[in-house]
Amino acid sequence: MPTFRFAPSPNGPLHLGHAYSALLTWRLAERLGGRVLLRIEDIDKARTREAFVEQIYADLAWLGLDWPRPVRRQSQHLADYARAARRLEELGVLYRCYASRGEIARAVAAASGGKGPQAPRDPDGAPLYPGRGRVLSAEEEARRRAAGAAFALRLDMAEALRVARERASQPLGFESFDEDGAVSFVRARPERWGDVVVVRKDVPTSYHLSVVVDDALQGVSHVTRGRDLLAATDVHCLLQVLLGLPTPRYHHHRLIRDDQGQKLSKSKGAQSLAALRKVGAAPTYCPA
Ligand code: GLU
Repeated sequence: MPTFRFAPSPNGPLHLGHAYSALLTWRLAERLGGRVLLRIEDIDKARTREAFVEQIYADLAWLGLDWPRPVRRQSQHLADYARAARRLEELGVLYRCYASRGEIARAVAAASGGKGPQAPRDPDGAPLYPGRGRVLSAEEEARRRAAGAAFALRLDMAEALRVARERASQPLGFESFDEDGAVSFVRARPERWGDVVVVRKDVPTSYHLSVVVDDALQGVSHVTRGRDLLAATDVHCLLQVLLGLPTPRYHHHRLIRDDQGQKLSKSKGAQSLAALRKVGAAPTYCPA
């Protein structure tokens, strides 16, 4: 059965962008005779609030949506992500990174002649990690290792691409489906992310790793999510090949924007569904 999923992070209230994404996901699943799983992406302990989890359930129910129980909560499955990270380590595509974000940003700015804003960035806009051994000296790294300092695990992108090429005969990419069901192949370019973090320093996994593991474990065949995650799909395809997992089909939908043309975001205080509910708004879907 076609299996879709809706995977919010409970770090703020859902807004109209989430409502659009959820309604579209359930609608496309219904059209294909499929189902939608709800997954709570709560690996980020510092930002997760239980009240937001409850609000997600209430908001989706208000939209008239239903989902199978139990709901998978990522925080309860850290062992699954650890297993996947071990497999990647065995492939020799991960390495330890002790550098802090500030140290990376300073190293990147210095390497680009102090032109901070023009320095290379990843598709999320963060300074692009310049590569193994380019931020901390070997001595400093050894010192931190000996002191038992916390570290992230980064993907050695060049090596990961080499291993992936060995494992997959087709070019790296994914099938993209549109609202009318037409499918096209999209070539992935994960190299634009550089040596991306696969296991964070503060959390024993990352968004990329957990999403890939969960989509496979939950038998997700269709992923519907916003265009802001289109570039992330390149990393996901690569991890899927490395881990021997299937690549689902993806639909990256348009983003709902505010009056200034900015995409709605929790961090910028977009009006929440809970607030709309309170003022008596009707949860009706109006296709664009
Ligand atoms: N948890 C992510 C978010 O709320 C979505 C993950 C995904 O759809 O892959 O933005």
